[in-house]
Amino acid sequence: MARYTEANCRICRREGLKLFLKGDRCYTDKCAFDRRPYAPGQHGQGRKKISNYGLQLREKQKARRIYGVLEKQFRTYYKNAEKKRGITGENLLRFLEMRLDNVIYRLGYGNSRKEARQLVTHGHFLVNGKKVDIPSYSLSVNDLIAVSEKSRATEKFKTFAENPKTLPSWIQGNPENFEAKIVAEPSREDIDVPINETLIVELYSK
Ligand code: SF4
Repeated sequence: MARYTEANCRICRREGLKLFLKGDRCYTDKCAFDRRPYAPGQHGQGRKKISNYGLQLREKQKARRIYGVLEKQFRTYYKNAEKKRGITGENLLRFLEMRLDNVIYRLGYGNSRKEARQLVTHGHFLVNGKKVDIPSYSLSVNDLIAVSEKSRATEKFKTFAENPKTLPSWIQGNPENFEAKIVAEPSREDIDVPINETLIVELYSK
């Protein structure tokens, strides 16, 4: 499966903000961005003024990196967002939020989207009673997500269940039963990622 191989902390430094890609480490003084808040490489500290196109490109790259999506797949999300009724940029973010790996992360299974993605590929989750191990699986309203019976008994999942996260309003959690339900599509206010989707739409509209 194609995936990112660039070091996570370099991505944060390249994008110029903390993207919290490494879970717990991001909240410690070991965070590379806190220690070196400038782009990696020899010329990282001597950057010139960025053009409008550069800003749009960086915003798209940032969104891809936060959600761990490759270029081709990201473009497909954009095309589908354009076709869907409503505001294209918001539709795009909604598609990204409704990915199974993102919802698993929102539920608190995994300290980063990367870890959540790994848990999905290891087959720990069921959607509507069927095992789904595809991180990009697109969830719909009324879908029921559950931890598999076998995984519930593990220490790792017991710890997750004992420390539930505050959920956005579009996800209804039932941590004692290792279950959650999608009760609505996320609104723009529900999506707390630092992305200016308008810049991405401007980039792809050229
Ligand atoms: Fe980014 Fe986390 Fe690395 Fe800090 S520790 S640079 S927030 S991935």
